[in-house]
Amino acid sequence: MTAPARVPVRTRTSADLIRAEEPVLAHNYHPLPVVVARAEGAWVEDVEGRRYLDMLAGYSALNFGHRHPRLIEAAHRQLDRLTLTSRAFHHDKLAEFAERLAALTGLDMVLPMNTGAEAVESGIKVARKWAYEVKGVPADRATIVVAADNFHGRTTTIVSFSTDETARAGFGPFTPGFRVVPYNDLAALEAAVDETTAAVLIEPIQGEAGVVIPDQGYLTGVRELTRRTGCLFVADEIQSGLGRTGRTLAVEHESVVPDVLLLGKALGGGIVPVSAVVADREVLGVLRPGEHGSTFGGNPLSAAVGTAVVELLETGEFQRRAAELGVILRDGLAELVGKGVLGFRARGLWAGVDIDPALGTGREVSHHLMREGVLVKDTHGSTIRLAPPLTITAEELATALGALERVLRRG
Ligand SMILES: *Cc1c(COP(=O)(O)O)cnc(C)c1O
Repeated sequence: MTAPARVPVRTRTSADLIRAEEPVLAHNYHPLPVVVARAEGAWVEDVEGRRYLDMLAGYSALNFGHRHPRLIEAAHRQLDRLTLTSRAFHHDKLAEFAERLAALTGLDMVLPMNTGAEAVESGIKVARKWAYEVKGVPADRATIVVAADNFHGRTTTIVSFSTDETARAGFGPFTPGFRVVPYNDLAALEAAVDETTAAVLIEPIQGEAGVVIPDQGYLTGVRELTRRTGCLFVADEIQSGLGRTGRTLAVEHESVVPDVLLLGKALGGGIVPVSAVVADREVLGVLRPGEHGSTFGGNPLSAAVGTAVVELLETGEFQRRAAELGVILRDGLAELVGKGVLGFRARGLWAGVDIDPALGTGREVSHHLMREGVLVKDTHGSTIRLAPPLTITAEELATALGALERVLRRG
């Protein structure tokens, strides 16, 4: 077999780069054929200089847009001073990050991690330990109740309680100790909770499932049920949190305070992976030295960027933008119902849009939108997800909605 001639890196076109990935990159993704080379705000630019409006924003990891000046400045400043110590030593950035994140969420303590999946894993460990030490569940008997159609990440334990066969098949044996109930169903939840239950773990809005918003009263019901039965309410706000829905946290729409909050994605400002488990002292206090950790968790660069993210959220500006621009998004989508859109669910700057399957799959619609200069991602079947940076302008949002209308009109 003769190897194809290597094209010098600097002159590779988008098509060259896509072809070059195939033999050397694991095929666990199926990206749209766009090769991004630079970005700013709500816009990305490909290798050939074509510009696209980013209506996915890294699944909410880019809530503040690409390269927000305040976040880039915080990262640069930290890169010039100190990047990593490990938690074997203290460093001068961690206290402020934890103080400000705890204050932002109204809880006591922070366990810093890196990716969302690690925050979920850590939340599961903390809930189990709390069940044994505080609640008195017999050793190795703790259960955690989760919702069908959840998405909490990709580790072996997390896919153990996924109901998505594509995410699970071929990856067993699975971690025991999870009970799956339908989402948005308090009676089913109540039936699944017993004296072994450490926690109920849910997304306040199910993102990957297609931005599924539970009925008003569900989160209040989960809070009431978990309090009454003596288990923890763990809210995975990795995608829904940090401004996306028009509030700092999605649980605020029902004025609910969970026992354990899982944060990630936007916490890293689109620069570094930063996640956290946030909880009160009675819960996070169960962890003692040596029982849990992470080499990179809470490193100085992550703490500096995370602190800058919290500072942006302290202004309330992004939550306000998400709420106000969310009205434009909702109204724009409502206009398209019956014109290629079957229905949609939206809260803040976040929407799951069900496209008429006769017009194509979500993937095909995403492809057409890409040609129109708008980047989105399909979720399941004919549903696409819109989650633009919270820095997007009303005009840019109108541009995206206009492109969607054109794509649907053409069919
Ligand atoms: C993305 C996501 C995760 C996993 O985060 P990673 O950083 O990809 O590991 C967990 N929970 C929710 C709700 C998410 O959206």
